Amino acid sequence: MKCPFCGAVDTQVIDSRVNDEGDSIRRRRKCGVCDKRFTTYETAELHLPQVVKQNGTREEFNRNKLRVSFTRALHKRPVPTEYVDNALNHITQKMLSMGEREIPARDLGEMVMHELKLMDKVAYIRFASVYRSFSDVDDFNMVIRDLDKQAKSRKRRVTDD
Ligand SMILES: [Zn+2]
Repeated sequence: MKCPFCGAVDTQVIDSRVNDEGDSIRRRRKCGVCDKRFTTYETAELHLPQVVKQNGTREEFNRNKLRVSFTRALHKRPVPTEYVDNALNHITQKMLSMGEREIPARDLGEMVMHELKLMDKVAYIRFASVYRSFSDVDDFNMVIRDLDKQAKSRKRRVTDD
């Protein structure tokens, strides 16, 4: 690593120390030319990939939005909330470990399907049947919301008569 003081290419690590959390290494370096010392830190670079939607736009991965997809698919199903938390953790970890900068929304949808399949067959079918014909999770959420609304207004009409 180049010396930040004189620009010399030849610097030497004189001490390396891992921090208490174990997620960062601090190195003391010494320049062989000007003799000055400086410190560098080394941390793992973990970025969640951007989600590329069907229409080509990109957005940040949004855990809450994904949670909404799960809760809509699991509506009135006997599945504990912690299962959803676990599924969200699985997906987040999978996305981190891929090391990709972008992932297609469709792949994210497939991950949701995979998790739902393990959790609850009805929720899985509900999600898969709606999701497969739409481009992404947003569309899925929108359609389910509309279906809910329609169901409610139909019920209202029936009781009004
Ligand atoms: Zn130097």
